Amino acid sequence: MNPKETVKKQIKKYYRKRVELFRLIDKIKLWPSRKGVLHGIKIIDKMGDRARITTHCNKTFMVTNSRNSRAARWLRNKWFEGVCTHCAVPEWKLEKYSSTRFKRHYGSLLLNTDEKKGFVEN
Ligand SMILES: [Zn+2]
Repeated sequence: MNPKETVKKQIKKYYRKRVELFRLIDKIKLWPSRKGVLHGIKIIDKMGDRARITTHCNKTFMVTNSRNSRAARWLRNKWFEGVCTHCAVPEWKLEKYSSTRFKRHYGSLLLNTDEKKGFVEN
């Protein structure tokens, strides 16, 4: 690998870490609660740097468009402890959400593809 390529990769990684929370939730429409329970998002009502989120189980709360919040971290890493039964998040969505985590051993190629399709691309 030549030095130029190495630099490129580092930039890419850095960029991925800085993905805004709103871009993540716009894409995946899932919200991890403080306990790690995934809710389906029904409405995202953006107001500048904040947004009011309404879940399918009719919970409403305000979030800030932070890259470093707990929720952004959970979503980027695709962590969750359980799924909200009221939101009834469809199986395919969970699979999409967690495929990177479960299929990590298939290699980085798949991981990149998954990110492009699901989470990072605008
Ligand atoms: Zn819910």
